[in-house]
Amino acid sequence: MKFDIIIIGGGLSGLTAGIALAEAGKDVALVSAGQSTLHFTGGTLDLLGCDEQGNYVQKPLEAIETLNSKHPYKKLENVSSLAGVAKKLLERAGIATTGNETSNHWRITPIGGLMPTWLSMEGMSTVEEPNQMPWRKVALVNIINYLDLPTKFLAAGLREKGVEVDVKTVTLPELKELRQSPTEMRSTNIAKVIENNDLIAKLADEVNGVASEGYDMVLLPAVLGVTNGDKSQQLLKLINAPATYVATLPPSVPGVRMQTLLRKRFNALGGTFFTGDQVVEGIFDGNTLKGVKTAKLEDTVLEADNFILATGSFVSRGLVADYNHVYEPALGVDVDDLGLDRKTWAKIDVTEAQPYMEMGVKTDSELHCLCNGAAVNNLYAAGSILNGHNSIKLLDGAGVDMLTALQVVNNIMK
Ligand SMILES: Cc1cc2nc3c(=O)[nH]c(=O)nc-3n(C[C@H](O)[C@H](O)[C@H](O)COP(=O)(O)OP(=O)(O)OC[C@H]3O[C@@H](n4cnc5c(N)ncnc54)[C@H](O)[C@@H]3O)c2cc1C
Repeated sequence: MKFDIIIIGGGLSGLTAGIALAEAGKDVALVSAGQSTLHFTGGTLDLLGCDEQGNYVQKPLEAIETLNSKHPYKKLENVSSLAGVAKKLLERAGIATTGNETSNHWRITPIGGLMPTWLSMEGMSTVEEPNQMPWRKVALVNIINYLDLPTKFLAAGLREKGVEVDVKTVTLPELKELRQSPTEMRSTNIAKVIENNDLIAKLADEVNGVASEGYDMVLLPAVLGVTNGDKSQQLLKLINAPATYVATLPPSVPGVRMQTLLRKRFNALGGTFFTGDQVVEGIFDGNTLKGVKTAKLEDTVLEADNFILATGSFVSRGLVADYNHVYEPALGVDVDDLGLDRKTWAKIDVTEAQPYMEMGVKTDSELHCLCNGAAVNNLYAAGSILNGHNSIKLLDGAGVDMLTALQVVNNIMK
């Protein structure tokens, strides 16, 4: 089977590249092994939230200028323009967002902190200024027995910022079965019960019953809208006060929604998705990748003119560590292990920046992967598999994914 481009990995970076290439009329195939880390992200996308000294960033484009030369953003031709393209690509996939690249706004974390971010999915709770909360009195309304919204932490965090918080709970008889087992009482299951049984209006009545008057804001756990944002928006409209969603602990319904809508857009554009399959080998001819083999299509080589490696970092097994070294298991391309001794890959204090987070595949200035020190002329890397950044320290995860994917697309289309 032959395609114009094969993308390996169906997370945010792979899907961004796939959609952009399919929109440009290319015949694209995407092979993806399993769930992506979008399932953990809380409905917000970061461009650059912290500088290298650990200070929060208000103006990401200015702070990007100060990053060291190894950071993936240094391989982009125009960060600002790519950020605008990314936001529009999301919009076309049905993912409306607030925010832009010129100034960060602040998202509320599930444990009541505030973090700078670039784009927030419609309906997510955000504030413009971290030291100036826009609400005097808030109702934090959780669903009974839903444990992935730590309301005590969340309320304490908001109170620390001077907000009066009343914690309330609601439930519906239809959720009774899920409540019998705490493992079933998860966000995605709650969403299915409420949405499939058309219980939005009933839930709104319950919320209005406990938080109808006197609140500047009603905060709800983001447990609605797995397939699209219609139901989650519908609930907000039925509440008799301004209402928004706060991110929960994983699994994240907004994250799953983003994944679902991006994949739907890719399919609608005619992209071919090999789901639940894994690239296990690359067939090289000198510095050219001719094709890839997958675990399920044992005898079939998938061929293409260009390939994009977007298999993520350690969490998605895009990178693997054994006792002695870190390697890239799908194609065996070169990995930057920072030249560190095994004992110094991680810091004992988990709150410190972890060195292993900056490990990743090596690329040249055009994001071609290197193999045995030489650039592979038709193989590019995008997203969190790239070396040179730490998405936890810099809060730059989604920005690196989407913008490097779009740059790779531009490089291929040249
Ligand atoms: C817990 C957590 C919370 C986060 N929260 C945020 C946030 O709030 N905001 C933000 O901006 N960023 C956040 N991030 C970072 C962000 O999610 C990641 O940067 C981003 O999603 C990575 O996207 P990716 O496409 O590069 O890789 P991934 O999402 O890791 O996707 C890689 C995909 O490749 C597949 N794959 C791996 N190997 C193969 C193979 N050999 N063959 C085929 N497929 C393969 C995997 O199964 C996976 O589906 C968070 C990350 C984590 C882990």
